Amino acid sequence: MAQSKHDTDGATGSDLAACHPHHRILFDPVRIGPVVAPNRFYQVPHASGMTESNPRVRAAFRGTKAEGGWGVVSTGAVSIHPSSDDSPLPYARLWNDADIASHALTTDAVHQHGSLAAVELWHGGAVVMNRTSRLPPLSPSGVPWAATHIGFMGQQRPKPMDTRDIDAVLAWQRAATRRALDAGFDIIYVYAGMGYLGYEFLLPEYNWRTDGYGGSLENRTRFVREMLEVTREEAGGRAAVALRISLEELRAKPSDHYESEAHGVVSLLSDVPDLWDVKMDSSPNDCGASRFRPEGAHEPIIDFVRTVTDRPVVGVGRFTSPDTMVSQIKRGVLDLIGGARASIADPFLPDKIRRGNSDAIRECIGCNMCIASWHDGVPVRCTQNATAGEEWRRDWHPERFQRTKKTEQVLIVGGGPAGLEAALVAARQGYNVTVAEQHSDWGGRVLQESQLPGLAVWRRVRDYRVWALSQMGNVAMYTDSPMDADGISTLDADHIALATGARWTRHLYSALEIPSYPLSGPQVFTPEDVFNDAVVGDRVLVFDYDNYYLGGVIAEHLGRRGSRVVYATPAGHASAWTFMTNELPYVYKALGDQSVEILTTTNLDHFDGSTATLSNLFNGHPLTRGIDAVVIVGLRLPNTDLYEALQKLQAGGHESISNARLSLIGDALAPGAIAHAVHSGHGFSRGLLGGDDDRYLRDEPINLVTPQPAFDGGDKR
Ligand code: ADP
Ligand code: SF4
Repeated sequence: MAQSKHDTDGATGSDLAACHPHHRILFDPVRIGPVVAPNRFYQVPHASGMTESNPRVRAAFRGTKAEGGWGVVSTGAVSIHPSSDDSPLPYARLWNDADIASHALTTDAVHQHGSLAAVELWHGGAVVMNRTSRLPPLSPSGVPWAATHIGFMGQQRPKPMDTRDIDAVLAWQRAATRRALDAGFDIIYVYAGMGYLGYEFLLPEYNWRTDGYGGSLENRTRFVREMLEVTREEAGGRAAVALRISLEELRAKPSDHYESEAHGVVSLLSDVPDLWDVKMDSSPNDCGASRFRPEGAHEPIIDFVRTVTDRPVVGVGRFTSPDTMVSQIKRGVLDLIGGARASIADPFLPDKIRRGNSDAIRECIGCNMCIASWHDGVPVRCTQNATAGEEWRRDWHPERFQRTKKTEQVLIVGGGPAGLEAALVAARQGYNVTVAEQHSDWGGRVLQESQLPGLAVWRRVRDYRVWALSQMGNVAMYTDSPMDADGISTLDADHIALATGARWTRHLYSALEIPSYPLSGPQVFTPEDVFNDAVVGDRVLVFDYDNYYLGGVIAEHLGRRGSRVVYATPAGHASAWTFMTNELPYVYKALGDQSVEILTTTNLDHFDGSTATLSNLFNGHPLTRGIDAVVIVGLRLPNTDLYEALQKLQAGGHESISNARLSLIGDALAPGAIAHAVHSGHGFSRGLLGGDDDRYLRDEPINLVTPQPAFDGGDKR
């Protein structure tokens, strides 16, 4: 358990000299069974999209968090057997001894910084479709996980497990535990959350069994207990045993003997694991978008656990404020502060608190672009931290920058996410940076969008960078400064980055499912008009084929403002891509709360100022709505006029800029999500140094071939 004396911890007294006294409790060591976490910062298991195919990317990603002070660093889900095959979603595995070496890279990277390495052993039960292994999925009673999103659907239904299957899973857990020990892990998980196998045994909806593993709460708990027991037996005191469990549904269930079934399960297993890792049941609630779920949203479900067990408890809540973390501990909710997204957005969060520099924390904005990466089947991307996943292959460190040896001027035009990130990275590398923004405030699209419902937290993208730039002595920042080519040519910059953003157009959508031609006429608006409060009309149609958050947020915003809103999209869902970011269920709730009419698979054909003519995308059936104004959220095109004017000056041999290196970055290069703009700005400035900073290695499974650059010569765009 946590020691009560704050100054006898893993960090020495002098380590904590700069730490705010109120925050020192966060640096207490915590005993977890046979091991001791050096502090309370615990990077809980989270998907990274990194598998046995990219072990070096993975080791550097996790190792960087240990370097940044996370006392425990965990893997994502590690499958114990081919019957737990989540493909095409990325997952790691410990199926045989050949898998050990790639995990040992991660444990080495974590141990190098004095942190503990935890492995989330996992069997997906009925949730996985075993698309590659083609083995029958396993389940307590044959109840399938019936996904509503096509990407997760599969036509393979699970086998009801007999006792031989149960014994087999226990044996696989035991074998994976042995391999995990060989790989060097200090904490080994049993997973009973998020719909996976252990969870299915606990929940009566999945578990219809009439044998000793079904029926009473004791019986339903038996499989998880046995999983914990074989893990402990095999670990033999060399590693701690953790239980990860979802408690939302269980807490909603009344129980004869306990306050709820959640209280019952935790009581029955109270001292079986060395650590309780407690969470919610569904991804949209567990890893909730900030748009709908505040910091610390799990507390009402998990707050009781520490009163029922004397084993340490870790939980998450998108915690980025050290005061909130301290409050969780002092109020007896958690012993260890779990971080998944907080640790992705800022791997050095603990270190910054330790140094008394919490202003410098790059706070997660809760946009869930990271979880979308996993749904996309690729390594993690983060809006706030462009270096996430790039630590090894591009050698981008989140806090360390090479310094230029030259005295060079970098001019950045545009103070949105791309421009601000480029300015910050260039300044940290020692360039003399000027950044000019035409508007009176910084932030570009983030400043505008963060005024819409639920998006206020996204302002952190701007706030962090503006604050960090204000700490630098080599940056000149000008707002109210629209730049043109002639003005730029007088500034004598060596490098010019145009971060001038993109603009929304009024293009409609064609039967080819691509943008067609612009809709002309009065009362046709774009998101920019919404930001400028220029959309007038009682009955508004939002036509969305951008399909991410913005169309839905605008519909919600206009509804809150008092308009009667119709939302139409050619896609199958409103804000269809927000499935990837865990927002979709809550988008529907938000639109429902504003009585927005939702028309899916619907195209907008025509609008004459009072009637919108629409048709079904697939069968062409027409429909009409009386409408005063249309907002089209569809095509964005880059703002490249300034870039082209400068190119002309250069081509004409204009003296003062003929040697300047011109670049487009962010949305001005290729419109995308904010994460793309930040990454683009970051990459531009890393690239200023040339040489190794242009590196882009391709990872390979361990022991097979030596990694090579992804590009061998040629044009490195
Ligand atoms: P990104 O996401 O790529 O950063 P944004 O649209 O968020 O793009 O930001 C672009 C910023 O560039 C906006 O704040 C816009 O006002 C600014 N900008 C565009 N053209 C100019 C210009 N000619 N001079 C100064 N600022 C400009
Ligand atoms: Fe947070 Fe967004 Fe980064 Fe995920 S992608 S860690 S939600 S800022």
